[in-house]
Parts: sequence; C-alpha cells; structure tokens
Amino acid sequence: MDAFTYRHGELLAEELALTDIAERFGTPTYVYSRSAIVEAFSEFQRAAAGRKVLVCYALKANSNLAVIDLLARQGAGFDIVSAGELQRVLAAGGDPGKTVFSGVGKSEAEMRMALQAGVRCFNVESESELHHLNRVAASLGKRAPVSLRVNPDVDAGTHPYISTGLRENKFGIAHEAALAAYRTAAALPNLQVVGIDCHIGSQITDTAPFLAALDKVLELVDTLHAEGIELHHLDLGGGLGIRYSDETPPSRAALLAAVFERLQRHPRGQQYELLFEFGRSIVGNAGVLLTRVEYLKENGGRHFAVIDAAMNDLMRPALYEAWHEVLPVRQPNAGASAGVDSGSTRAGGHGSQGSASPTAPTTSSASAAANTAQPIEAVYDIVGPVCESGDWLARGRTLALAEGDLLAIGSAGAYGMAMSSNYNTRPRAAEVIVDGAQAHLVRERESIESLFALERPLPR
Ligand SMILES: *Cc1c(COP(=O)(O)O)cnc(C)c1O
Repeated sequence: MDAFTYRHGELLAEELALTDIAERFGTPTYVYSRSAIVEAFSEFQRAAAGRKVLVCYALKANSNLAVIDLLARQGAGFDIVSAGELQRVLAAGGDPGKTVFSGVGKSEAEMRMALQAGVRCFNVESESELHHLNRVAASLGKRAPVSLRVNPDVDAGTHPYISTGLRENKFGIAHEAALAAYRTAAALPNLQVVGIDCHIGSQITDTAPFLAALDKVLELVDTLHAEGIELHHLDLGGGLGIRYSDETPPSRAALLAAVFERLQRHPRGQQYELLFEFGRSIVGNAGVLLTRVEYLKENGGRHFAVIDAAMNDLMRPALYEAWHEVLPVRQPNAGASAGVDSGSTRAGGHGSQGSASPTAPTTSSASAAANTAQPIEAVYDIVGPVCESGDWLARGRTLALAEGDLLAIGSAGAYGMAMSSNYNTRPRAAEVIVDGAQAHLVRERESIESLFALERPLPR
C-alpha cells in the first residue's frame, strides 16, 4: 500500500488526491497505482536476475486490459484460465508464446483457440484432459505443449476456499498418479511434454509450503528423468500472499531466493526454466476501492456506515470473511493538524485500524447526526446497500465518520473488480489507473441499460 499515502491529512494515490478522483469519476471506483503494479512485477524480475525465469501474471486477479498491457510492456508472461482471458491477453498485446493455460475444465473450443493462438503451454489437470487435448491438436494438425499440474498434497496454510494443493481438492493430478499420466502424455502423438506445474493455493504467507511443494515436484522430476521423460520447465504456480493487515509474507525476492537455493542443491536444478503464476502479489496492494458513506445508522447498539460500494463490487469479505483496511480519505483531524502533519505517512500496514476498540466512545447516536457534517466516532460495521446480511466490507472499525465522507478500502487490487457482479442490478464500478498526478479511466462505470441489454421479454 506504499502508493497510497497521506499528505496534509489527505489520502493520495501516487501524487493525486483520491478526493479529486471521486469528484471526476464518481464512486464506487477502483483506483490502481501504475507504479505499484510495475514495481511489484519488477521486483520479481530483479530477484530472478540471470536465471531463466518467466513470471506469468495470473489474469484472474485483475484482468483489466490496461493492467495486462502494462505488464506485457514489462515483459510479463500470463496465466489464463479461460478463452475469455486468452482474448484479453491478445487484445492487450500480450504474448501468447509466454502464456500458460491453466484450469480444471478447459472446453474443446477453448483448447482450439489456444492452440491456434500458440500458447506456451497447457497445464493439464487429468488423464482425460490429455486425451481430449490430443484429439483437438490432431484435428488441427498440431502438437500441443503440455505440463501436468500435479497435486503435491501440501497444506498452504490459507483459507480453505483458496487452498488448492491438498489431496482432496478438485485440482491437479495426485502425486502417485502423475507418473502414469506422464507416460500417457509422452505416448500421445499430438502432445509434447514440456513441463510440470503445481499451484497450492493463494495468500500464502510463509515460504515453507512453496518449498515443500517444490520438493514434491522435484521427486517427480527425478522419477520422470529415470524414465527418460525430460522436462523443460518447472512451474511453481502463484499464491504469494500480501499484507492486508498484519500478515508478514516473505518478500518477492526472499521467496525466489529460497526456491533458487533449493534448486541449487538439486543435480539438474539449474537446467530447468522456472515459471511462476503470480496474481495477488503483483496487483493486490496496488489498488483501493474508493467509496462514499451514504448513511450512518444505529441498530441494536451497533453502528453501521452504509456505503455506496457493496459485496457485488468487492466480494472477498462476504466470501472469505476477508479483512480489508478502511482508510478515511480525509483524516478527521486534518484541518487542525495540517501545519504539523506536513510530511507523508504511509497508509495501511499493521492493521492499525483493524482491531475494534470495544470501548470506543459512542455518546451521540449516528442517526441524530444525519443532518450534520460533524463526524461521529464509533465502532462501525461498513456495509453496502445489497439486500444480504453478508453484505459487509469491514466490521468493527473505529472511525470518525460523517455522511458524505469518502473511504478507501485497502488492498483491493486483486480479486476485487475481477470477482464483481451485477447482483441487485448494480452497475459495476469504474476503474482508474493513477500515474503520478494523472488519472486514466481504464474502465467506464457500467450503464444500467447495459445490464439488461441482452434480455428479452417473452412474446405476448
Ligand atoms: C489463481 C491462480 C493463480 C494466481 O494465484 P495468486 O494467489 O493470485 O498468485 C496462479 N495459478 C493458478 C493455476 C491459479 O488458479
């Protein structure tokens, strides 16, 4: 969240006040920092220095064309999970030759499109998919490059919904079934075995699960080597976590260093190209969701701030009970302390507002203040207008709020807009990328008409 800092009590995205962005583009709006995205990706590249490493950006974290374009210009590869994502890579000028196609349910049409585009590799998740892909490739007179996604049965230590490397998950091919699957792949005439991959989950905040998965992968690589099946690359997937509150994930450089160190001790560890499929760790902390407080209310002793963003805009809290920082765009004491607070302070980190203070002063009721601009300090649940009790974006936050205030929901660059929906016929938010003091609209706010443009009434 380094790209979002306070200056004179005003929250900025790079050099631009979020207040200005709200005035120009309205709310709710996703705001991303160009330099934060580029910097995160560059850090991987610097860490990879001198080695054969391809960092494939996992599009599903944030698939805006401008984000893809930005990363393509940095030399990124891409990790896609659908034909739609492939089309996005192509539309944004990304290189299909650096694109890996993941996913447990690729359709024939998707396979055909990817073969014609010339993707780098198919990450295959079952024996059945191998046969399927072989047939499609044969019909096009092509050989499909394949890697098998093995399931290393490693606990990523993350939320069950984003943990994918355990035996009982739907993903990948079980470790003990992998050799047979590789034999099948090697025997099919229209497939070419090029690699091995795994992806054990997301928001992993420790190096150990990555290394445990790497060890399992290397075991298989050795078995395959003994069988005469040689691989070109090892793809260790994505999943590196970010700091939402007080998590302390390894740095990008530390993770890669640990992986290199492990490979150094392997007899053929240096010969393989390494692929990664990072999503969240590239864009997660590069974005906020900018929203406005519509109403303050109190029910049964709880204080609610009803904002104009909702679970349809940012689903992670409703889906995973995820914690996002909530930052006032204008610090309540900004006017008073403007003279003192001349420097910039880093926004976020350490969950400074995270722990609800149960003894927060709540003398005046929120509803009484509805018509005044006086902020009311209370412990708030930050909720949206959607008709679901699960529609909350943050709970138990001590904030001084007035109706009309702007808030920034932190660390919203990954799995925010990408998971948004039109539930309650709510148009999706606009997206803006800030570059220095400039704001670029990279996705318009949806119009309401567009939401039902594809619908037809029954004939009379
Ligand atoms: C989601 C996903 C990723 C990206 O995960 P992050 O946690 O965002 O880095 C990479 N590979 C595969 C196969 C995925 O499904």
